[in-house]
Amino acid sequence: MPIDATQPYDPDNIFAKILRGEIPCKKVHEDEWALAFHDIAPQAPVHVLVIPKGAYVSWDDFSARASAEEIAGFIRAVGHVAREQGLVDPGYRLLANVGPNGGQEVPHLHVHLFGGKPLGPMIAR
Ligand code: 5GP
Repeated sequence: MPIDATQPYDPDNIFAKILRGEIPCKKVHEDEWALAFHDIAPQAPVHVLVIPKGAYVSWDDFSARASAEEIAGFIRAVGHVAREQGLVDPGYRLLANVGPNGGQEVPHLHVHLFGGKPLGPMIAR
């Protein structure tokens, strides 16, 4: 069920619980700014989610409120994970869904990293 990305942050969302270690994840990377883990329902041979450690509902919220340090740390973490997963040479897709039209389902900012095969058209027809 897509969420309204303009709502206040819900500290009980599933990714907040993963960040607090209350729910397990298959972690691929963690640093001061970000946590990366495998998507529970992968849509490509490689499907990793990268989330910021801070409480941000969406890309919109993050880009408006996060500090320059948080933004730099998060973006660097995403690049690091893509390199670590061997995605750069063959190429990959980076995606952030925002709100109902984007189909965002979890109200904590996450970017999807997809790779491992040619990914086809950018938008499903
Ligand atoms: P969205 O549609 O919000 O951009 O993507 C949410 C993603 O989170 C989906 O791809 C979904 O499979 C994934 N997801 C939802 N719940 C969990 C969970 O508990 N653990 C993990 N690893 N992924 C989840």
